[in-house]
Amino acid sequence: MSKKETQERSHPCAAFDMEDPVEAYEHMDYRIVEDYGDKAYGHYLYTWDDGHRMLAKCQACGGYILIQSSEFHSMSDESSDSYYTDWFPVSSPEEADELNRKYDGFQIETEFEDRYLTRTNGSLSWAGKKTETGASEGSTKRSYEKYTGLILGGSGAALLILAILELVDVGMIPIIIYALAFLAALFLMSRREKSMFPQWEGLRWRIPSSKILCLLGIFVGLLLAENLMDTDAPLLIFGIFAAGMLAPLQNFLNAKKYHMDDLDSIEELTEKYPEASEEMVVK
Ligand SMILES: [Zn+2]
Repeated sequence: MSKKETQERSHPCAAFDMEDPVEAYEHMDYRIVEDYGDKAYGHYLYTWDDGHRMLAKCQACGGYILIQSSEFHSMSDESSDSYYTDWFPVSSPEEADELNRKYDGFQIETEFEDRYLTRTNGSLSWAGKKTETGASEGSTKRSYEKYTGLILGGSGAALLILAILELVDVGMIPIIIYALAFLAALFLMSRREKSMFPQWEGLRWRIPSSKILCLLGIFVGLLLAENLMDTDAPLLIFGIFAAGMLAPLQNFLNAKKYHMDDLDSIEELTEKYPEASEEMVVK
């Protein structure tokens, strides 16, 4: 077989094109072609306490899959240990090895460019950077996030359009200054929060206070605009925005219910509140 032929035949498993994570999981009928073990290129190939990474080939479609399985060992008793498996689409053994070289266990979960399939204590879902653009959502937490983002983005854009339309008006200058100062503060805050709570990366329940502040900020901005301009447009936008405030309410209540700011990891969350893991993936 020539090199060109090998490349043409080499592709990721078709499971990664599927919408339903369960359907994707059921499609995969793989055998392990290579076990990379638990360590390579000077870093660990798993998250938490134990695990390993393997290259597999799907017997249903001939595509490649990079598998990372990890374990979290409970301090209290063995029966509450947690198990995680990630399945990453790779086109070839070379690509799999490149991922091994580039990323350790935690890095591959946050840095992987495409969508990957993940199972946490039996719950299957899509994860990774392209989850939002992927066909499947698979969980309410993501749709909440999407909805909130849409409302926030829309309100912000509407405010900006208002500002541009009224730019010649001197009365708008305080609003523009306000918006710039607000955005700068928000940017710094969300960066800080990201480093403070890396454990909630990927889990959209915990609403960062920067987001709550963002909601309040937009509200204040619209009130300012309403007072400074001779138009009812800000009120209209506020109506849409108020509707949007209801969207993250469920997330906020979940975060409160499970005391997430006092927890250190998703594992601790599911360990202390097993019912939480059932709510995480709804599909
Ligand atoms: Zn396949």
